[in-house]
Amino acid sequence: MAESMKGLKRSHRCGELSAADAGRNVTVMGWVQKQRNKGGIIFVDLRDRSGLLQIIFEESDCGAENFAKAEKFRSEFVIAVTGTVEKRAGAVNENLTTGEIEIRAKDTRILSEAQTPPFPVEADSKTKEELRLKYRYLDLRRPDLQGNLILRSNIAAAIRLFLTKEGFLEIETPMLNKSTPEGARDYLVPSRVHAGSFYALPQSPQLFKQLLMCAGYDRYFQLARCFRDEDLRADRQPEFTQVDMELSFVDVEDVIEVNERLLKYVCKEAIGLDVALPIPRMTWREAMERFGSDKPDTRFGMELTDVSEAVKGCGFGVFTSALENGGSVRGINVKGQAAMPRKKIDALTEFAKGYGAKGLAYLCVMPDGTYKSSFARFMTQEQLDGLVKAMEGEAGDLLLFAADRTKIVWSVLGALRLEVARQLDMIDPDAYHFLWVTEFPLLEWSEEENRFTAMHHPFTMPMEEDLEYLDTDPGRVRAKAYDIILNGTELGGGSVRIFQEDIQEKMFEVLGFTKEDAHERFGFLLDAFKYGVPPHAGLAYGFDRLVMLLVKAESIREVIAFPKVKDASCLMTGAPDVVEEKQLEELSIAIQVQDESGLS
Ligand code: ASP
Repeated sequence: MAESMKGLKRSHRCGELSAADAGRNVTVMGWVQKQRNKGGIIFVDLRDRSGLLQIIFEESDCGAENFAKAEKFRSEFVIAVTGTVEKRAGAVNENLTTGEIEIRAKDTRILSEAQTPPFPVEADSKTKEELRLKYRYLDLRRPDLQGNLILRSNIAAAIRLFLTKEGFLEIETPMLNKSTPEGARDYLVPSRVHAGSFYALPQSPQLFKQLLMCAGYDRYFQLARCFRDEDLRADRQPEFTQVDMELSFVDVEDVIEVNERLLKYVCKEAIGLDVALPIPRMTWREAMERFGSDKPDTRFGMELTDVSEAVKGCGFGVFTSALENGGSVRGINVKGQAAMPRKKIDALTEFAKGYGAKGLAYLCVMPDGTYKSSFARFMTQEQLDGLVKAMEGEAGDLLLFAADRTKIVWSVLGALRLEVARQLDMIDPDAYHFLWVTEFPLLEWSEEENRFTAMHHPFTMPMEEDLEYLDTDPGRVRAKAYDIILNGTELGGGSVRIFQEDIQEKMFEVLGFTKEDAHERFGFLLDAFKYGVPPHAGLAYGFDRLVMLLVKAESIREVIAFPKVKDASCLMTGAPDVVEEKQLEELSIAIQVQDESGLS
């Protein structure tokens, strides 16, 4: 039977006690990690979120009744113990902060009994993730997850403290909205009162934060929950948290400046990391040219080289036809890997195909200076020498090439570079490389929709020097948009916003919105702009990702208390689930399930 808390008060968390407390009378409460009955003496490891503490029960100290209770303890029982802190008589446990002490129990209560858990509650669990997520409340007791969530809370607190000191106001924006323009699919919530109408859950607070700037709030931030109904991807969550901010009377430099100090502060507070300022910067163009990615991992080299010039007019059709079709030929130099077995190169080729490559061409510079290559027979010695020189190839190097439309070449080599570095262990896991990527293209051509779409969102300001191309050559217009990258992961991004009506209208036009469309969707923002709008800009971080990288977790699921799995379901609660007919009726909703042929 569970005993009550009546007359009992916890004096300390388990991990808060140390040798300095020797002699003190304390009351601790928590979960039994382990109970060892050695006859006349019972050892208990007691656990709470702060750590483990050893308790000793001896009948001569605690009496027969309490000793009998201690004999009943099983793992995960919740107990309270009152006793005295003592220096350990036995061996000191250096792995525990409380390793020098133990509590000699005088009194105890069983607050709650426990069934045997489906997996052991301990760090570095080898338990399958599905089982852990089904019993997330037990999983969350494990010290590594508790550590992650404690750090998450500390990071949030540091962000709040810093931004508040910098004059930012924390303001909440609504969850039930009209569709936002971020470009992913919305989660919809049916309205009961307005039958047939739906709210959209926010993909981000974008429009509201811009309206707050119109309203004069100057500097806003929010730890905002966002929802995006995207296709299944391994490390995505349908709902996630952003550190969202917006500032008035600023330009790119101002946003970057305050965010650099924010990152420096948070990294120092959270993990004691010193971030050197200023954070390096690179334009989008440079990032693509050098790393084949708009979120380059700069912890290692192996940069891309454009060899289009060197292979021009050579006899290798794969190269020349890529050039003839307006594409390019680029390569990476895998230093010292000329002896890579053919099988491994074939596997890399398969990998590259996953990114749209038709194949991968390779050239090994052998130790004697000769070449072993998939395409040597199509080229003269002179052409080959020229190519190797362009790649700065030396004896022992493996050169890998992709030839196609430049967009594909970048994406193939960008991914390949990361894969090779991973395979060859070239990445220092302790390094933190921050990077700003700036001057993104404003627009992206969508093959599917046969029109331009906004690379960031429709409110992003073009660079002033490119405004003239908005009519004539929209594809070349660069944006006042920036991303902050950490170790090859996009931590956040933002932009300076358009605040001039004529530019906004032009932008909508380029995106293929009619005036009516634009007004239907964003009329309230456009109207607000008519009443005096300050120039403004902002940025949002993926908070889950930031925490994940700072705690070095493998997945964002390790830093979210109750995450969903890949198909957006919750293994613990079973959400999403069917609802009662009556609820649907109230919402005027009839369900029509389609079979695979699309017929109902
Ligand atoms: N709302 C944007 C996003 O979610 C960030 C921003 O532009 O501030 O990516």
